[in-house]
Amino acid sequence: MTTKTAKYTIKEFNEKYPDDDTCLDRIFEGRYPDGVPCPVCKKITKYYRKTGRKAYACEFCANQIYPTAGTIFHKSPTPLRSWFYAMFLMSATRCGISAKQLERELGVTYKTAWRMFKQIRSLMDERVKSMNGHIEVDETYIGGKHSGTPGRGAEGKTPVVGLIHREQGQVNATVTKDVKARTIMPIIWNNVPRSTENTIHTDEFATYNYVRKLGYSHGVVQHGKGIYAEGLNHVNTVEGFWSLVKRGINGVYHAVSPKYLQTYLNEYQFRYNHRKSETPMFDLMMNRMLALAVPPAGRLS
Ligand SMILES: [Zn+2]
Repeated sequence: MTTKTAKYTIKEFNEKYPDDDTCLDRIFEGRYPDGVPCPVCKKITKYYRKTGRKAYACEFCANQIYPTAGTIFHKSPTPLRSWFYAMFLMSATRCGISAKQLERELGVTYKTAWRMFKQIRSLMDERVKSMNGHIEVDETYIGGKHSGTPGRGAEGKTPVVGLIHREQGQVNATVTKDVKARTIMPIIWNNVPRSTENTIHTDEFATYNYVRKLGYSHGVVQHGKGIYAEGLNHVNTVEGFWSLVKRGINGVYHAVSPKYLQTYLNEYQFRYNHRKSETPMFDLMMNRMLALAVPPAGRLS
């Protein structure tokens, strides 16, 4: 995997967001790019900043709005600048950083760092919908004492199923309770429309025998025979993603409890799926924050 992620340096970040005010302006402008439809006087208004407050007021009726309402920043005693800096740190590295590192960098308590970490990571929960064409599917086990050890039915490890859309290089990774067909097949048909035009590439694991019955074309690579690719038949892309995830867990987090494994996968998936994006990761996360804000811009109540 090559990473050509758009660079966003700490210098650029500091220049753009020197203080809490510039951060709040960014949220306000992001939520109301076309002006605020004032819920009181019903005019489309500019609203102006209330000095020293996290509020903006309507220039006609003085009604106030709080741009952080309904966002991850709402009611947080942590300064906005620290939130933005945490987002910058979590977006700036290829492998992410831990809550422990955030604690040190921000000079906040571990409890606060962990809360921010979880909230920011929630911005990276983004699923790829509807994969068509050539899709690799593979399961692996993560966690336990020997995270890197391949094998099925491993003790103390959590099963994970990954789908990779080969042409687009997009991944969906899901924590599952087991690797039985009744668990894995719904994950496949919820992501890939059932058609012989869609080819599911797997290894020879018996669970995948159902793929053809569901109406897909099935490309099988016989790992048991020491074959790792036969023309288009391979699962090398998804295996590359697994090694990235496992390296990350070992290097950054050391261990991940099964409870948080899905949010960890979401973070890796987000990075992977946007790795060729022209938009810096920080801005992608900011856009997600704006998209998830409730109520959305223009529907103030
Ligand atoms: Zn108004």
